[in-house]
Amino acid sequence: MSSDMPVNTNDNQNPEEPTVLFSELGLDARVLAALADLGYEKPSPIQAATIPMLLEGRDVVGLAQTGTGKTAAFALPALSRMAELADTNGPARTPQILVLAPTRELALQVAEAFTSYAKYLPDFTVLPVYGGSPYGPQLNGLRRGAQVVVGTPGRVIDHINKGSLDLSNLQYVVLDEADEMLRMGFAEEVDKILEATPEEKQVALFSATMPRTIRRIASEYLRDPQEVAVKSKQSTGTNITQRYLQVMGAHKLDAMTRILESEEFDGVITFVRTKMATEDLADKLKARGFTAAAINGDIPQQQRERTVENLRSGKIDILVATDVAARGLDVERISHVINFDIPHDTESYVHRIGRTGRAGRSGDAILFMTPREKYLLRAIEKATRQPVTQMQLPSLDSVNNRRIQKFTDRIDQTISGQDLTTFREIVEKFAADHEDLDQLEIAAALALMAQGGRPLLMTEPVIPPSKKARMDRDRADRGERGPRARKTAAEGNAMYRLAIGRRNRVQPGSIVGALANEGGFNSSEIGGIEIRSDHTLVELPAELSKDQWRALSKTRIGGELISMELDSGRKPRRDDDGDRGGYRGGRGGDRGGFRGGRGGGFNDRRGGGEKRFGGRGGKDRFSDSGRSGGRRDY
Ligand code: ADP
Ligand code: MG
Repeated sequence: MSSDMPVNTNDNQNPEEPTVLFSELGLDARVLAALADLGYEKPSPIQAATIPMLLEGRDVVGLAQTGTGKTAAFALPALSRMAELADTNGPARTPQILVLAPTRELALQVAEAFTSYAKYLPDFTVLPVYGGSPYGPQLNGLRRGAQVVVGTPGRVIDHINKGSLDLSNLQYVVLDEADEMLRMGFAEEVDKILEATPEEKQVALFSATMPRTIRRIASEYLRDPQEVAVKSKQSTGTNITQRYLQVMGAHKLDAMTRILESEEFDGVITFVRTKMATEDLADKLKARGFTAAAINGDIPQQQRERTVENLRSGKIDILVATDVAARGLDVERISHVINFDIPHDTESYVHRIGRTGRAGRSGDAILFMTPREKYLLRAIEKATRQPVTQMQLPSLDSVNNRRIQKFTDRIDQTISGQDLTTFREIVEKFAADHEDLDQLEIAAALALMAQGGRPLLMTEPVIPPSKKARMDRDRADRGERGPRARKTAAEGNAMYRLAIGRRNRVQPGSIVGALANEGGFNSSEIGGIEIRSDHTLVELPAELSKDQWRALSKTRIGGELISMELDSGRKPRRDDDGDRGGYRGGRGGDRGGFRGGRGGGFNDRRGGGEKRFGGRGGKDRFSDSGRSGGRRDY
């Protein structure tokens, strides 16, 4: 970063960042040695604040954004305390530390972190337990005696029910990524697990945000907790105007075109989610007459630098980038940041919009958001503590008026600034030869030629497909069954067909669990689920990676391969169609707005046809049978 940056831009270190060292926090020397090996230099703010409290034995609620080191904040003091206990009592044979995490991925990450921090502690075993993997190794691991168990709530409950998870000696419980855990519908599991733990224990709750349900859980299960909220190190500059536009995926390009045509802009950087999308969008913008280029992590560094140079010098106006490729980019003329795809975390959002408003200039940040991404907008507003105001799509008329204005400006400039002698003579002769033609007609023909074949005016897109999808969805939500009330996927999504259905007694929870864990989908990516008699329709992102296909091809629910395929849109059979209906909550017990209704896994069939399942209702339920022979079964 250049040193002439004003204070309110985003890359400055927070001056209040603690200058404490890990060695001053009271951690066990063996834990400190592991940190030195890992190259951790100093504690992050959330670590500096919570580690001493946790070492003291206090219950703690720690709030800090993603990527701020919350794992170490709870793992380091836990390991220190357990190590010191083991020094006096010898190694424990049953779990002392239980960490609940929302997904298999996160559970594995936390388990790995524990393992690396416990590197110099003798006889320390960390065991991840999560749905979708066979019970055998987990049971063996538990029998051999793990001190730390990191698990997803569904599978932990299951081990408690089976009697395989002995909680009698538990000292320390952590609810990690608590907001995400509740978003995934685990509120009831979390309650049950906490109720099953011994009275005397320490509880830590870490989360990026603090929704009401978390407050409820904290007040119910934490004893006089210390609450620590670390503000985001990054704050957005007030010189940046933030707006959002609600737009369906298929209309984003049109929306971007309209915005660029109706606003004054200098340089623009637009963010998309994937490398492929950078190239794709850059090509489409070029086809629409903008000067654009893509940068992404696959493009060699030298070429990236050239592209950025081209943006700086004005050779190109629009850079289409992924988060990674644009990190730290500092180009003064960037007037607009367009979040073509919404970022998945607030930290990235702050980084992205910090690309504009450089060197004291003002900047514009525009966020495209589909209706289902609304919750991310709220998170962004909360994290930046600044409102993002809604903007309207510039109307066709305003775009066209500007196009006409620009076109006529060009005529003016040509008349006033160019030598017209040659063309004047040609046109004069042409007009003399075509006396029947009005001079205006000749001028219009020339104007058309000047436009070079591209239509000057923008026209309304042919059909707004989102509207139709929405209507279909609304109708389905109301439980109507029009003869063709077939579910239609939202923009950017597609319908997939799983070869399991009511006949296999499949539950929405096991489907969401399987998709989340095997396909790596987050809860917001899983749309409606419709369980029919012999198959299930699920709405997921239209583009899946090879890895996702591969993982899902091996996935089983209740012993059956789900054989996921794109739904061909075959007409449903009569008996299938009859079951369409609106979402019905789990039976009773819904608490804090989360889906309740836990049934002891797959074999507990809930009362009659549950059809649609809201996108955020994931749980990792699974069959408790060993039938799957070591393959992933839910
Ligand atoms: P969070 O849970 O807050 O999202 P993580 O605990 O996953 O964040 O940590 C994010 C990354 O930061 C991890 O790769 C972790 O190893 C690293 N990290 C955590 N604490 C430190 C530290 N004090 N110094 C350097 N790196 C750290
Ligand atoms: Mg974390």
